Amino acid sequence: MIEDKNTSRTQISELGEFGLIDHLTKNFKIKQKTTNLGIGDDAAVLDFESKKCVLTTDLLIEGVHFDLSYVPLKHLGYKAVVVNLSDVYAMNATATQITVSIAISNRFPLEALEELYAGIETAAKIYNIDVVGGDTTSSTTGLIISVTAVGYANEEDLVYRSGAKDNDLLVVTGDLGAAYMGLQVLEREKQVFEVNPNSQPDLDQYTYLIERQLKPEARKDIPELLKALEVKPTSMIDISDGLSSEVIHLCKRSKVGVNLYEDKIPLDPSVISICEEFKLSSTTIALNGGEDYELLFTIAQEDFPKIKANPNLTVIGHITDEKSGIGLVTRANEKIELKAQGWNPIKA
Ligand code: ADP
Ligand code: MG
Repeated sequence: MIEDKNTSRTQISELGEFGLIDHLTKNFKIKQKTTNLGIGDDAAVLDFESKKCVLTTDLLIEGVHFDLSYVPLKHLGYKAVVVNLSDVYAMNATATQITVSIAISNRFPLEALEELYAGIETAAKIYNIDVVGGDTTSSTTGLIISVTAVGYANEEDLVYRSGAKDNDLLVVTGDLGAAYMGLQVLEREKQVFEVNPNSQPDLDQYTYLIERQLKPEARKDIPELLKALEVKPTSMIDISDGLSSEVIHLCKRSKVGVNLYEDKIPLDPSVISICEEFKLSSTTIALNGGEDYELLFTIAQEDFPKIKANPNLTVIGHITDEKSGIGLVTRANEKIELKAQGWNPIKA
């Protein structure tokens, strides 16, 4: 799939390490005034003056976090950036810089890395961040990518996982479960393709699901929206491993319980129909699917009027005391204990 786009193959060894870094990073432009110095020295120099700096990192391993048989490298580069920015926005902060480190085997020609960096560059442009450094090394087998994201916030604007209070409302952005079902569709097509390499998949009806899997977006808009609405969440987390496990993280860190209402969980119509096709419960998928990169947060009851008209935000439950437990209130109005089944490669 990847080789189709770019037919020539230039060996990395033809450029050498420094030639490669220069080649891949030559288009990166500095846009942020907090970047004093970007790529090219021993370290980047950033200046946040009186702001607090936030820093977060992620590691993606071929065969564990992504499968290059159906993930185009350009999408992989884009996604590697976006998943990190999502963690910055989950602190209610502004993302400003990233570093990108890669380990590559000689299986990858220069053209493959150009694709990867085209995705990184697109994300940097869309999210208005600077690529200020990284590291390049070799790997004996697969591809490894690590992105570190940096951002800033006023101290009083930072939102932690630990601030949820009894009676707060639990709010989620966007809709859930689509990225996981996109992965199921891609896995199914991969199997069909292995049996019959001439098959031409018709994936039109799955566009939204596949896009959510291959080209997720981070909710840069939400810290901005909340500021405009004059709402400061009491706690916040991004949804990378599935709603269930993130709700549990928030509750444990805040020492509270929750009632989460099954019938309030926002689902796209395409998720409902694909779950019927795969004979899966859409609630289970929304709770455990993961990779949605939506934000989950709590607000004080008195802030409800400020958010209630916004179609991006859905109230899905309310915080209780710790003793009441972490519960899912089902459509049949039964309360069951919420369990984390989040996507966890270490458990698998
Ligand atoms: P050092 O040997 O001091 O680690 P390098 O030669 O690895 O320095 O890197 C030179 C410059 O290029 C540094 O600014 C570094 O941050 C940057 N850089 C290296 N690899 C990458 C990469 N894969 N993506 C972006 N920048 C990179
Ligand atoms: Mg280095």
